[in-house]
Amino acid sequence: MTFTIASTTVLSNGVEMPLLGLGTYKAVEGAEVEQEVLAALEAGYRSIDTASMYGNEAGIGRAVRASGIPRGELFLASKVWNDEQGYEETLAAFERSAERMGTDYLDLYLVHWPHAVLYAETWRAFEELYRQGRVRAIGVSNFLVPHLETLRAVAKIGPMVDQVEFHPRLQQPELQAYCGEHGIVVEAWAPLMRGRVFEEPVIVSIAGHHGVSPAQVTLRWLLQKGLVAIPKSVRPDRIRANADVFSFELSPEDVGRLDAMDTGERLGRHPDSWGLGQR
Ligand code: NDP
Repeated sequence: MTFTIASTTVLSNGVEMPLLGLGTYKAVEGAEVEQEVLAALEAGYRSIDTASMYGNEAGIGRAVRASGIPRGELFLASKVWNDEQGYEETLAAFERSAERMGTDYLDLYLVHWPHAVLYAETWRAFEELYRQGRVRAIGVSNFLVPHLETLRAVAKIGPMVDQVEFHPRLQQPELQAYCGEHGIVVEAWAPLMRGRVFEEPVIVSIAGHHGVSPAQVTLRWLLQKGLVAIPKSVRPDRIRANADVFSFELSPEDVGRLDAMDTGERLGRHPDSWGLGQR
């Protein structure tokens, strides 16, 4: 498999989404996130993931403009937060995100977490934004199979992406199979297990064999599986290293060893733990 940093996956509506993007959760608004984004764009990243909840959309917008890279060459994604769900609320939340980022449109807009009551209204707003061309693709985040089933029962346009926690310890085979069947691209958050890949002996050993780091092994594994990965780092050396995953290839045996690490262990919240819409 020959990948480059420009490699994309094609969403169900034909839009191309870069396989490697930049995560920005906890990158602080202001100099920190601006420098992160500029370093990433310089290293060749063209896809940036944020959310209204991260509080750094404005800084990302400033960095994007400062880079001078034409908007059409970038893939910008944001998310509607839990307390912004509902039809009118979502339309207004989108306008706020777009304005903060200084862009007329987003390449991808995601529902951050599933809401048991408001999901249909939120999604109706997503479909409206999509029809109006304000977003090139629409998707969800943290939706498990039952959430996707419930949504698809009311959706006129199905989600094109599901961004979920995904790494060697949490591979969600049922969700992967469901998304594969329904043409939904799986995007991995916390792909580096928030740094814990460096403590996993199997990953460390594969990394040693290839002369690369455990982070590079894990990202390469995700790309070879056809998933989108959005590692986050605010350090330029790590940003560059996380994108340097195109000069080696994992063997089927390496992939098998990583696949065998799944224990279903979550580092972040379970999608139902918010109790959104449940009383
Ligand atoms: P990651 O798995 O990307 O890990 C990020 C952590 O690893 C940071 O502490 C970073 O530190 C460190 N790190 C990054 N690269 C390296 C490296 N090469 N060597 C050593 N340490 C490294 O976790 P995230 O939770 O950030 O997930 C990625 C992105 O996914 C988020 O930033 C966000 O965009 C998205 N996300 C979405 C969620 C959702 O609900 N939809 C939830 C959580 C995340 P440092 O910055 O100091 O380098």
